[in-house]
Amino acid sequence: MSHPIVFPSAESQSSVSHIRVDQDRLWNALQELGELGAYRDEETGLHGVRRLALTDQDMEGRRLVMGWMQEAGLSLRVDQIGNVYARRAGAQDVLPPVMIGSHIDSVGTAGKFDGCLGVLGGLEVIRTLNDHGVITRRPIEVAIFTEEEGVRFGTDMLGSAVAAGRLGLREALETTDRDGVSVGAELEHHGFAGEVQVPITAPYAYLECHIEQGPILAADNTRIGVVRGVQAITWKELQLTGRAAHAGATPHSLRRNAGLAAALVTVRLNEMVESGEYGQMLATVGRQDTYPNLINIVPSNVLMTVDLRNPDAAAMERAEADLNTYLGDVERLTGVSITSRTTAKTPPVAFPVEMQDLVAKSATNLGFSYAEITSGAGHDAGEIAALCPAGMIFVPGLYDGISHNPREYSTPEACADGINVLLQAAVELAN
Ligand SMILES: [Zn+2]
Repeated sequence: MSHPIVFPSAESQSSVSHIRVDQDRLWNALQELGELGAYRDEETGLHGVRRLALTDQDMEGRRLVMGWMQEAGLSLRVDQIGNVYARRAGAQDVLPPVMIGSHIDSVGTAGKFDGCLGVLGGLEVIRTLNDHGVITRRPIEVAIFTEEEGVRFGTDMLGSAVAAGRLGLREALETTDRDGVSVGAELEHHGFAGEVQVPITAPYAYLECHIEQGPILAADNTRIGVVRGVQAITWKELQLTGRAAHAGATPHSLRRNAGLAAALVTVRLNEMVESGEYGQMLATVGRQDTYPNLINIVPSNVLMTVDLRNPDAAAMERAEADLNTYLGDVERLTGVSITSRTTAKTPPVAFPVEMQDLVAKSATNLGFSYAEITSGAGHDAGEIAALCPAGMIFVPGLYDGISHNPREYSTPEACADGINVLLQAAVELAN
C-alpha cells in the first residue's frame, strides 16, 4: 500500500450524517439499466439480463451509465483495458481519490443487481453530494471495470486485475472468447482502448457495495454485510480426449470413453468437498461439452470446467495438487488423455480491519443491523485491494440470495441501505 490511511477525528466526521440517498432515483436507474440486454428466460419465464463483456449490449449499458455520469458533472477517463473512471473533483484535487467501483457486464442469465448496484450506487452517491452541495476534500471516482464476470473471455475480474497489476495488459488484450475474438480487438472496435496507463495510480481507498449473492444476511434479517474478505478462486479447463466408438459394436474393455472420465472427475470433486479435508472448499463443474454428443456413440472428447473456491489458500493448493494426481489416475483407468489449464486463479483477500470498522460504524450510525461475512464470490474489490485499502458492503437478496439468475432481487430499501452506508463511508474517507 502506497500511503497510510488516516481516519478523521470525531468532530469532522458528521458532515453528511443527516443526508440520505434518493431511494427512488437509485431504483429507477437499476431498472433502466436492467432493460438493456434484456432477454426472456426459458426456465423461469422472467425477463433476465444478458450483457456479456464488450458486446453491443454491454456497450449500450456503458453509454447509458456514462451519459448519466456526464450529466452529474463527472469527468470521464478510460484506461488501456477499458475500465472507466468518472471523477468528481475534490477541494484538494491533487490528492489521490476515494474510488467507488464495480461492474455492469453480466453473465448470460443475470438479474439487474450484480455489479450494477455498485456502479449505480456510486453514481447515486455523487448525485446526492451534488444535490446537497457537499464538497469533499479528496476527489471521488466511480469506476466501471471491464469483464468482471469472466464469462465471455474466461478470466474473471479481468479489468480490475489489469488495473491493479496482477494480470499483464498484453496477456489480457490477447485473451479470446469462444469465437476467437480478442479483448484487444473488441476494445478497439468499441472505442474503449483508453489512454490511462495500467496499472493505475493507487487510489486513496476503495469501496464497493454489492448484493450478497447468498442466503446468510436475509436468514437473520440483517440489513448490512461487513465483508471480511474474498475467498480464493481457481478456474480450470479440462480437455479430455478419448476415442469415438460404436455403442453396440465396441466391447467395454476397448473403449476410451471421455464421458466416463468426465463423470469420474465430477464425482471425485464432490467427494473431496464432502471429505472435509480441504477446509470449506466448494467445487463446481459448470460447463461440460461432449462430442459428438449422440446417443449411440462413445464420446471422444469432453471439455469441462472446474470452479474451486476456498477461504484457505493452503487448502486450495492441496486440493489443486490432489486433483492433478487424480487426473493421472483417471487417464490410467480409462485410457483417456487429459490436459488441464488454469484459466483464472485469485488468492484469498482479507480487507483491512480499519475498512471493515468504517463500514460497520457507518451502518451503526444509520441504525442498521450488520453482520460480518466472507464473500463467496469474487469481486473487483479483491483486486483493487492490492493497490489501496479496500472495503465492501453487502446487501441481502430475496429467494436465498439467488444470483446469476433472473430471479435475483434485492428490495429498493435494501439497495438504498447499502448505498447510504457507502455514502457515509466514502465521504468520511474523502474528508
Ligand atoms: Zn458482481
